[in-house]
Amino acid sequence: MSPSLVFTDSSTSTASRLLPFSRTATPFNAAVSLRRSVGPLNVRPFVLPPLRTLSVNSSNNPSPVINDKSGGEACAKVIDGKMVAKQIRDEIAAEVLKMKEAIGVVPGLAVILVGDRKDSATYVRNKKKACESVGINSFEVRLPEDSTEQEVIKFISEFNNDPSVHGILVQLPLPSHMDEQNVLNAVDIVKDVDGFHPLNIGRLAMRGRDPLFVPCTPKGCIELLHRYAVEIKGKRAVVIGRSNIVGMPAALLLQREDATVSIVHSRTKNPEEIVKHADIIISAVGQPNMVRGSWLKPGAVVIDVGINPVEDAKSPRGYKLVGDVCYEEACKVASAVTPVPGGVGPMTIAMLLSNTLSSAKRIHNF
Ligand code: NAP
Repeated sequence: MSPSLVFTDSSTSTASRLLPFSRTATPFNAAVSLRRSVGPLNVRPFVLPPLRTLSVNSSNNPSPVINDKSGGEACAKVIDGKMVAKQIRDEIAAEVLKMKEAIGVVPGLAVILVGDRKDSATYVRNKKKACESVGINSFEVRLPEDSTEQEVIKFISEFNNDPSVHGILVQLPLPSHMDEQNVLNAVDIVKDVDGFHPLNIGRLAMRGRDPLFVPCTPKGCIELLHRYAVEIKGKRAVVIGRSNIVGMPAALLLQREDATVSIVHSRTKNPEEIVKHADIIISAVGQPNMVRGSWLKPGAVVIDVGINPVEDAKSPRGYKLVGDVCYEEACKVASAVTPVPGGVGPMTIAMLLSNTLSSAKRIHNF
């Protein structure tokens, strides 16, 4: 199978690993908006990206294996997450249509947003739009900041029992008075499209077990490596960051793919030295430009998850977004790099749609 068609979630077939959001509720004084959105299906033929095998250098010999050069200076290939995410969304739209026509089922994704954080509201809006663009139904519950944990869990229980909902996502972070663990544990594992349920994470960590869902951002990172035909097996990989949502599952995924994985975190004494040995680097720290070109082994492949706003007088907004990795420097040393923005970000939402589709397929045995 072409690596471009291989999805990380090995629990289902390829297409089923790709996959919908909206609902209103009434109780409480909650500002709950329930909307059902079934957007027009925009199905386009799937076109493979211009793939080239990226051969990462796994020896200690620093001779660079850089496949893309422009002129005399090494120039890393740009791993275009925006383009790949678009292709995946087209594939999902086609699958959603096929499922609807064959068995009359439309996948549904429910999103619960508590509080009024602007960034969270933007993420939720984007997820909803993404659902609409592939024909997935979206259900949304908005609860006020002072809601109780029990109120949130009540909505989760409703969605757990709602056959039109195949995926449930609680937008994080939750307000500080809530216990995130209690809330996430309430999501039925079969609808845990974020992949954060301890059972899903536990299965991800265990040999011979398959999680029902893999967390979307790390899944998107691995998908980019697959679609750009980056060999993972036997390579040295370093994950910078060990959060539950990105770093830790990213390291587990790389290990499942037979990479030899090191994890760098805030207490690591010699991060540069460890990163220098890596053929593949996934950075999820939240520190602008922390990883310098001098940290990288020539020919390494760099997946930059970090999204960091930095002042930019030239931008009308007064700031721009940069990654954890100094992009300009990395381009001169690495063989392939994801840009920020336009790298991992669009993949996260595409993987959420993918997880929702696979959930609907699994539930309906399609
Ligand atoms: P997080 O929960 O704050 O975790 C950050 C991790 O980085 C922690 O494990 C921390 O180590 C480690 N760290 C902090 N400073 C470090 C340093 N100087 N050296 C080495 N490690 C260091 O963050 P997150 O939620 O994983 O997100 C990380 C970044 O990814 C953020 O910029 C976020 O905006 C971005 N992100 C992007 C997407 C996307 O879709 N593109 C999705 C999620 C997150 P300790 O464990 O020791 O504290």
